[in-house]
Amino acid sequence: MTIYLDHAATTPLRDEAREAWLAAQAHVGNPSSVHGAGRSARAVVEDARERVAAALGAHPTEVIFTSGATEANNLAILGASAEVVVTSPLEHHSALDPARWLATAGAARVIETLDFTALPERAGKRGLVSLHWVNNETGAVFDVPGIAAAAHAAGYTMHSDAVQAVPYLDVSFAGSGLDTMAVSAHKLGGPVGVGALLVRRETRLAPGVYGGGQQRFRSGTLDAAGTAAFAAALDATVAQREAESARLVRLRDRLIEGMARLGEVMGPGPAGSAPHIVNAVFDGARSEAMIFALDQAGIEVSSGSACTSGVVDASHVLLALGRTQAEAEGALRVSMGRTTSDDDVSALLEALPSAVERSRVAHGMPRHGRGEP
Ligand code: PMP
Repeated sequence: MTIYLDHAATTPLRDEAREAWLAAQAHVGNPSSVHGAGRSARAVVEDARERVAAALGAHPTEVIFTSGATEANNLAILGASAEVVVTSPLEHHSALDPARWLATAGAARVIETLDFTALPERAGKRGLVSLHWVNNETGAVFDVPGIAAAAHAAGYTMHSDAVQAVPYLDVSFAGSGLDTMAVSAHKLGGPVGVGALLVRRETRLAPGVYGGGQQRFRSGTLDAAGTAAFAAALDATVAQREAESARLVRLRDRLIEGMARLGEVMGPGPAGSAPHIVNAVFDGARSEAMIFALDQAGIEVSSGSACTSGVVDASHVLLALGRTQAEAEGALRVSMGRTTSDDDVSALLEALPSAVERSRVAHGMPRHGRGEP
């Protein structure tokens, strides 16, 4: 049996989501068609919209369904027409790269910072703060509601990528004060390829995709089955969230304790650590070699960073946090979810020492680990 500890990458589909998808998929109908089939497909989408809104503390008209959080982040950041963008170098690429593109295109002044306590003067220009709620590599939590209040006081609007926050933290769009917020279904037991951008009613965004105008600035035929499965997964997630997060905190703390004996565990963010992610750097080891050794032992983890054609790049997040290239190349991210058990954590902690040691030996650095017994 494989032990899957890469829930930050994607999570297993929930039964509720599979059933909702199959039930909706059984019927033909384009939600924009006016005949009966179209109207029933539309009813599925609108029911999903209401449930997603209720689960996230939003109004149904504030929910724009997208193909996932990558699209939602792009729509929010490119569509804000901001002339000044303040963002973090720790963002997921789907939020970082649109901001960087605005700078490259000369459309905005883009400031990347780790310090959101003092926002730069906008000099009357339209400003956007874009900061994720939970970092997907380290689990660091940011005080998004506090920063949204400060952003508004300084005349900025604010977007947050809440992909890794919604499954484990009590996120309310209305309570957050955010203008826009990105969510993804496949990080909470829904299918890949569906998500949402929440957009406050008074917020205007330029269209990111032109076409039939199905959802104001987001054109494209609505995916009735995908939205139904997303709503079902989100409902189940929110109903179980408090208990599930408390359970994972206990497992996370076991992981931190065990991993800290072999390497250096990344510290919490300004507002703490998410329940599901632990990231550590292992001096003298290589992410790929450790992932491979663990995979052979039937345990699936990640380096936390992008993997292109089988080569693991050093994480831009760890580098931006001041880690050296060598440290960033020796990182492991363990991320848990609802299928993770105590035994899974024990199995990882048992297999880890030899995976780290083998990687250190292969990399020419035997018995040289920080904190090694
Ligand atoms: N933001 C964060 C923080 C993520 O973890 C991910 C998924 N790795 C995304 C955005 C992208 O989401 P999607 O796969 O729905 O495009």
